[in-house]
Amino acid sequence: MGLFTNNKKPCPICGEGTPRLLATQIAGNTPLCDDCSRKVSMVSSQVSKLSVEGLKEHLLKREENANYLKTVFAPTKRIEVGWTHINIDEVNRTFTIPLNICGDTKNPPVFKFEELQGYEILEEYTPIERFNRGDVSPLCTPMMYNPVIQFGFDDKDDKAELINRSFTLNLYLTNPCWDKVESSAGSASGHERDFHRDYINHLNTLRPVSAALVGIIGSNVSGNVAQSNVGSISDDLIKFKELLDAGIINQDEFDIKKKQLLGL
Ligand SMILES: [Zn+2]
Repeated sequence: MGLFTNNKKPCPICGEGTPRLLATQIAGNTPLCDDCSRKVSMVSSQVSKLSVEGLKEHLLKREENANYLKTVFAPTKRIEVGWTHINIDEVNRTFTIPLNICGDTKNPPVFKFEELQGYEILEEYTPIERFNRGDVSPLCTPMMYNPVIQFGFDDKDDKAELINRSFTLNLYLTNPCWDKVESSAGSASGHERDFHRDYINHLNTLRPVSAALVGIIGSNVSGNVAQSNVGSISDDLIKFKELLDAGIINQDEFDIKKKQLLGL
């Protein structure tokens, strides 16, 4: 109670006081208490349009969701993605990705296989892999890391630059509460050549993620074929980059090879 609680605007669900600042609001700027707002799992732009009745209906569905997780959901596969993971129940053809933005991580929304329309893996803000329902195999454009050349003129410490790249996984859904779920898919970092290694290792950790998602969406091509494309293209690119760095091939030759490999 006290300073941070607003008892004049009680929560329409449980009647408790609501936060004075930054409360989650439904239609008519009606604030919710923290406990009730944590139970909501819905794109935030939809939450602000909810009526009290709509919210009650949603919270009932959330209880059904928790019940489904407890009594029916039996994951047969767990795939690590950044700080979270995807739990896949291949028998019931459902999956979860427990994220804070989707509400209580102990009650993550259950998605049906057929609700997943596509996914996208981003390196920083650029998609490097994309797959949509109906596609034959993922469209991959592994990015090429361009090292910053140190001339050493006024660089007193003469240290190689530390490079960081973060990855994001976007899921596109036809779920009534979620049309897009965005999750961190980890990062790669290191100094120059170490970065190369970490980057490739990281792409390797993302392969089971794409394979699992392709499996959920369904395709004519097996996950393994889709995976090996990503691997061989990026491995080949790294090899050519090393030839370029070693002065065995020139920039023009490298650019031609890169275009061929990426199918540009
Ligand atoms: Zn409440």
